[in-house]
Amino acid sequence: MDSDGIDLHCHSRASDGTLSPTALVAAAHAAGVRMLALTDHDTLAGLDAARAAAATRNMHFINGVEISTRWGTRTIHIVGLDFDAHCAALLDGLAGLQAQRRQRARAIAAKLENFGVTDALRRARYAADGGQITRTHFARLLVEDGLCQDARRAFRRILGDGKPGCVATPWVSIDAAVAWIRAAKGQAVLAHPQCYRLSRTKFDCLLDTFTAAGGTALEVCCGNSKDADVVRATSAARRHGLFGSAGSDFHDPAHAWRHLGGTAPMPSSVTPVWHHFRDFASTEAVP
Ligand code: AMP
Ligand code: MN
Ligand code: MN
Ligand code: MN
Repeated sequence: MDSDGIDLHCHSRASDGTLSPTALVAAAHAAGVRMLALTDHDTLAGLDAARAAAATRNMHFINGVEISTRWGTRTIHIVGLDFDAHCAALLDGLAGLQAQRRQRARAIAAKLENFGVTDALRRARYAADGGQITRTHFARLLVEDGLCQDARRAFRRILGDGKPGCVATPWVSIDAAVAWIRAAKGQAVLAHPQCYRLSRTKFDCLLDTFTAAGGTALEVCCGNSKDADVVRATSAARRHGLFGSAGSDFHDPAHAWRHLGGTAPMPSSVTPVWHHFRDFASTEAVP
């Protein structure tokens, strides 16, 4: 199976996506996706509904999650794929991150009151509707209140790392996040490498940490990868003996720049991570 029709990174309303898990699966199916992983931020809450929706469409559904980790001063996202969603080590670890998110939401809301957003915490909780509260929810409030023109500007001016509405969060180490995924028999993928804007030396250092922890794959093909990003990621995957993953990082159908299943094809010099999924033989039978 080539990467055509495969999307191993996307979000639902369980975190900062705008579609319910069921609607997300329907949209992915309509876009021609045959193998889908739902990878919400720090939660598995959408997986059961998404798996059930995929089963009715003969799609191959893969358990997924995108874990927030800290590496020095940076936040690095680690995607877990094809794990046992009942693993206690993984669930306990994610519960800790969810508690950090609740605490951070209170702190961000307090800061946004200074920018003129009233009732920010209650509104963000209402919008998240029981899912994880993320900075994306606060960005939407800034836009809704006319304080920023769009989410991108809300991040650039207020919510981005080091900006006045940002609250530094400890998250968890790369070692711990990868250990949870491994305990659950999954594959750990370093997400969207082009987003970190690291020098080659720093990036190699990050990948050394990641592989030493037991990480197995790099997201070589992302929704916003340029050709040069794919080339760089391919050569990094080969240098570090990593498999390649492909995912759109889809959040919202209104984002014209990111489509479900919309990634570049996996270069043939990289082994696709899905070849190492636990029941890869049966995925070959998916039409
Ligand atoms: P959080 O995990 O709560 O810190 O929120 C991070 C999320 O915010 C990411 O997963 C993206 O979906 C979104 N995000 C981060 N940076 C930007 C940006 N510059 N513009 C729009 N959305 C962003
Ligand atoms: Mn997100
Ligand atoms: Mn991410
Ligand atoms: Mn993501």
